[in-house]
Amino acid sequence: MLQDSGSRVMTEPIERQIGQNLARVRAAIAAAAAVAGRDPAAVSLIAVSKAQPMEKIDAALAAGQRVFGENRVQEAVEHWRDRRSMEDGLELHLIGPLQTNKVKDAVALFDVIQTIDRRKLAEKVATAMASGGRTKVCFIEVNTGEEPQKAGVLPAEADAFIATCRDELGLPVVGLMCIPPADEEPALHFALLHEMARRNGLTELSMGMTSDYETAVELGATYVRVGTGIFGERLPRRVG
Ligand SMILES: *Cc1c(COP(=O)(O)O)cnc(C)c1O
Repeated sequence: MLQDSGSRVMTEPIERQIGQNLARVRAAIAAAAAVAGRDPAAVSLIAVSKAQPMEKIDAALAAGQRVFGENRVQEAVEHWRDRRSMEDGLELHLIGPLQTNKVKDAVALFDVIQTIDRRKLAEKVATAMASGGRTKVCFIEVNTGEEPQKAGVLPAEADAFIATCRDELGLPVVGLMCIPPADEEPALHFALLHEMARRNGLTELSMGMTSDYETAVELGATYVRVGTGIFGERLPRRVG
């Protein structure tokens, strides 16, 4: 039936599939929250739509999903520039590395920037936010695994960096974000991030992806970032 030429016949199964995936992930979040004695409403599901076809993104919107994450500014503009005006209550999070020359575009598009990790970037974001734009709050990304190839401030430098961003630059920092090393037990990293947020008086924790979001919810995540678990495998990246 999928080879039928009518576009309706093509899109309906995708809508149903994405709707089912979203329902399954939401149920798993609720179950993990229950295990930890947490209110499931305290956990926001970010649907990570990077490198996904528009028809799947539209299917998620049709299923009522409103919070999305992207990791490249240019691709996010392509995905969301027009949809922004069509959809009520859309909330877009930047979850990928931000170059300083893209800060203006990022602040114009994203409600939340989760990847503040160096002073120069924090300064530029604070300046851009002061002259308008959409961004309301920021997270600081912590490289909990201290991996050289990964973005994020080192754990030993996190407290001082948080203070600099908040107190000196006036950035509205609300939480911390991390991406644990692929080959390590994520729970240790989630617990470390939670403790770091607690001692700095930050309430939001962005942690957990398709493979480990339930663990993250048990350890206090207030945002989980799920891509393939909702949309399936990503498209290959264009080169350049
Ligand atoms: C791609 C990405 C995700 C989603 O990954 P999945 O394993 O597909 O759920 C989450 N967080 C960040 C920072 C990402 O870049």
